[in-house]
Order: sequence, then C-alpha cells, then structure tokens
Amino acid sequence: MSYVDPLTRPWREWYQLEVWRRRRRLQLRHHPLCAMCLARGITTPATVADHIASHGGDWNAFRLGALQSLCKPCHDRGKRLLDLDGCSHEIGDDGWPTDPRHRANAPRGVVGSTPGCATWPGGRTKKFGAGN
Ligand SMILES: [Zn+2]
Repeated sequence: MSYVDPLTRPWREWYQLEVWRRRRRLQLRHHPLCAMCLARGITTPATVADHIASHGGDWNAFRLGALQSLCKPCHDRGKRLLDLDGCSHEIGDDGWPTDPRHRANAPRGVVGSTPGCATWPGGRTKKFGAGN
C-alpha cells in the first residue's frame, strides 16, 4: 500500500488516520471524564476527543491543537453551538449564560460589537440549562 499525503485528503478523513486514532486514545486515557459535564459537577465517561479550538481544516491545528474529552451529547450540542457562534450557550444556575464571550455578558452599550458570538438564540438553548 502506498503512502497518501493526508493533506491531499478531505479533513474529515483525517479522523480515520492512525495518528489521530492514537492521539484520541491517549487523550481519553489521560482524561476519561467529560470536561463539560465535570464543569457542572456531573461525572460522565468521555468518548470524544475534541479540539478545543476548531482546527478549521488546518493540518497543524488538527495534529497539535489542544484537546478536551467530552461525552457525545456534550460534543454534539454544546460544542457545535460553540463552533457555530464562537461562544458557549451553557446556562448557569442563575439562568444566565456562563461564557463571558456570550453577548448577554457583554458590557452595556457594546452588545452589537461583541466579536465572535452570534445573536441570542432565544428558545433554542433553553433546554441546555442546569437540571436537564
Ligand atoms: Zn458531557
């Protein structure tokens, strides 16, 4: 079998490479619990090695970017919103978004200029609050 340069392949295929599988295994071995659940005081086994900052198809960021361990539900909902909007939509016990980058936490008067985070999602994230 001949060597295929991973950079010539679509980045979604990079997750099939042995270098990634090894890195994923190592991440989950060293950090076996979901980081997002842990932040809420919940102990959940992690199954996903997730790039904390989206690699955006950049090979070096894919290979070297910092990882966090997540359970699949946290990866599929919270992290997806984080990637899309640039901030977490996690709601704290006080009913307020926990991410300081969330536009609801921006100082008064500069909400419209908050970088990264998109519009307040309304009902879309109500179900992500504590207690679900
Ligand atoms: Zn979780």
